[in-house]
Amino acid sequence: MRLRLVPLGTSAGRPTLLRGASALAVATEGSWVLCDCGEGAQIAALRAGLSLSRLDAVLITHLHGDHFNGLPGLLGTLGLDGRQRPLVVAGPSGITALLQHLARAGSLGTGDMEVRVVEQEGNGGEVRIEGSQFLVASRPLTHRVPTYGYRVALADRPGTLDVAKTDAAGVPRGPLLAELKAGRAVTLPDGRVIAPEGLIGPPQRGASMAYALDTVPCASAVELGRRVDALVHEATYEDGRAALAHERGHSTGMEAARIAAEAEAAALVLTHFSPSVSGDALADEARSIHPRIIAARDLAEIPL
Ligand SMILES: [Zn+2]
Repeated sequence: MRLRLVPLGTSAGRPTLLRGASALAVATEGSWVLCDCGEGAQIAALRAGLSLSRLDAVLITHLHGDHFNGLPGLLGTLGLDGRQRPLVVAGPSGITALLQHLARAGSLGTGDMEVRVVEQEGNGGEVRIEGSQFLVASRPLTHRVPTYGYRVALADRPGTLDVAKTDAAGVPRGPLLAELKAGRAVTLPDGRVIAPEGLIGPPQRGASMAYALDTVPCASAVELGRRVDALVHEATYEDGRAALAHERGHSTGMEAARIAAEAEAAALVLTHFSPSVSGDALADEARSIHPRIIAARDLAEIPL
């Protein structure tokens, strides 16, 4: 099973003609989760061909409008669609009260859908999404308001059975192979007991990504991005404006590359570009630090 990243909004602060406000879909076969929900995210999701009914969870990093303002609209659409399945919404403390306030004012229209809000506190932790293929965890980032980054992964898969070896051991093809693959010893018709050890390859690591915005360079981003297939990290400004970036709680592309290199992330996806910078220029600037850098573009899918 693979993961696809679909940037739905890659601009910082406000949407532009080419870039929407922050949002990124993490999709696998049959389901997806949404990281941040800036204004316009649901329309971008439709353009990307993502089915809203297959959305398992929305992971909000912080309550600044360019990461949150699309959520009330998205919830309203799911309500109009008649969704019955609960939707998990993770976010920083304050998100429950904010959504309740909007609901009381009649702004949400979620109908029968239960919105399961999971507020992130302290050092973060596992975000449980019942019935989902996605394993999600959070860690606090360093921004001007409470902010959490997320790691999204698929479960590891058991190693493959070496059929040449099971043949050599005389295990007949059929249900006994399934037992061995499940890690259980089997008894052959001739009475010999065959253990699975040595017949199964190492477990295959599930695909993984991390989402770190908005933040100044911080240890939590390294932790979230540890050996992921792709770290999506904010890069609001070029390195020449690092002081401005830090003053506003942001990072530069070079800094994001240092985080990705330290985390040993296989790829770095830069996003959250100030309208005053070129994403490609930021990526070029940072390539001396990390070998695989992608400047996110709205709706340009990134397969992992
Ligand atoms: Zn932002």
